[in-house]
Amino acid sequence: MNKDDCIFCKIVKKEIPASIVFEDEELLAFKDINPIDKVHLLIIPKEHIENLFSCEKKHKELLSKMLLLAPKLAKENGLEGFRVMINSGEKGGQEVFHIHFHVYGGSEKIAKI
Ligand code: AMP
Ligand code: ZN
Repeated sequence: MNKDDCIFCKIVKKEIPASIVFEDEELLAFKDINPIDKVHLLIIPKEHIENLFSCEKKHKELLSKMLLLAPKLAKENGLEGFRVMINSGEKGGQEVFHIHFHVYGGSEKIAKI
């Protein structure tokens, strides 16, 4: 998918609405439109990176920032436990080709997808 038709780039540019829960100069986090658990957030970099296959050493800090944001947002959203999922590639279940970390939890038994 081209960066210009990327739905998550459009959310970054505020061209389409999202329930944003966190934003800084590099990252954005918002509620998944189709949640699979009581809390289901997506953490994305503002830079368009397709998925983990496209990540290089230069993305090391960005990726760790994304990962470290997960427990902070989980706590702020009342979670005592959570799961992080990163689908990479069509055969990895990826539907939106702008890298995102799913952060979800809240039900008695954690959902699996
Ligand atoms: P994946 O299958 O890992 O690519 O996940 C894509 C996720 O993006 C799905 O869980 C969708 O529900 C979510 N999603 C798609 N469009 C939007 C949107 N406009 N706002 C929030 N979440 C979205
Ligand atoms: Zn994008």
